[in-house]
Amino acid sequence: MIPDLGHACFALVLALNTGVAVSAGGPVRTAPSAADPAAYQQVKVAEGIQAFLSPEGVTPIVSGNSVVIVGEDGALVVDTGQFPSVTRQHIAAIRRFTSKPVRYIVNTHWHPDHWLGNAEYLKAFPGVVILGTANTRQMADTKARQFITTGYADSALAYVKGLLAEGKHEDGSPLSPIELGYYTCALQQFEVYRAELLAVEPILPQVTFKDGLTLHLGGLDVQVFCPGRGNTGGDAVVYVPSRKTLVTGDLVVAPFPYGSGSFIGEWIQALKRLAALDVDTLVPGHGPVMQDRVYLNQVVDLLSSIQGQVRQAVDQGLTLKATQQAIQVDGYRKAMCGDDPWRLFGFMGNFLRPAVERAYREAKAGPLQDEN
Ligand SMILES: [Zn+2]
Repeated sequence: MIPDLGHACFALVLALNTGVAVSAGGPVRTAPSAADPAAYQQVKVAEGIQAFLSPEGVTPIVSGNSVVIVGEDGALVVDTGQFPSVTRQHIAAIRRFTSKPVRYIVNTHWHPDHWLGNAEYLKAFPGVVILGTANTRQMADTKARQFITTGYADSALAYVKGLLAEGKHEDGSPLSPIELGYYTCALQQFEVYRAELLAVEPILPQVTFKDGLTLHLGGLDVQVFCPGRGNTGGDAVVYVPSRKTLVTGDLVVAPFPYGSGSFIGEWIQALKRLAALDVDTLVPGHGPVMQDRVYLNQVVDLLSSIQGQVRQAVDQGLTLKATQQAIQVDGYRKAMCGDDPWRLFGFMGNFLRPAVERAYREAKAGPLQDEN
């Protein structure tokens, strides 16, 4: 058994034991575009702001979106991705987009798909200053380090190979067609990831903050702040008031949120704070650019529904397992995933199951300290 991965963007274990039968419905999609780490889309977000949108993943081997914000004195980049080879392409694209140097990087949180490209920016722009919350630095330096070694990637690869060779789980139950597809895709993507890891030099945020700060890029003020714990214990967002643009990191992820290690009650409050900002354009941590708050509000409602149902279950003395079985979020699941079997699989394993577990622990013990 590979160790507990515990991290949303490399959370193989989460998808392993969902215990949920997801009917495949239509044809199973073959290996998705995330198998090609070079696949990304560059889009204009607002004047002087461009986003590199990563493809939607099936397995946890994904890259977060990256955003470049250009002022008269220089540029700021939000998140640097998981694959150094792709980060180098982003840097080349930035140089085509602007002659200004990248002066600042903001890592929105510690999950490796948002900061493993830091070293590439340091090489390209030696004076660049990397910022993040204190939690981001601390967790990147401790928990994330466990996940970004080739030894760890090897153990994950061996585990997936073993599963596919056996065709069944450790408890003897057979892999479903969707699981077979998932692990076949995971094998391919883990091999890509392993090769990328060899190029990673982990560079932590050099400047940390608790609440927030404002960066003056020359004619453009950029607010960086932590609206509260949510997806992690210290998510930062980047807000450009004059462009009415908000870059959320993984506080907002589409088509469905990541639930692992999250802080459900505080996440709801953090999202409500974001919803109150004067924003026309929102760039999520994963997923397409949004021009309204419809999805953000949907996530607030989904998390609130889970929190309410879990509290009720705890009041009734239900076990965690019984609570997992009792939770009803079919409407949200349908709205977010449609009939796509991969999305349905990911929703259960990467969002619902860990989110319910976290909400259950919160309901019993109050605000959590760990990010497991
Ligand atoms: Zn992410």
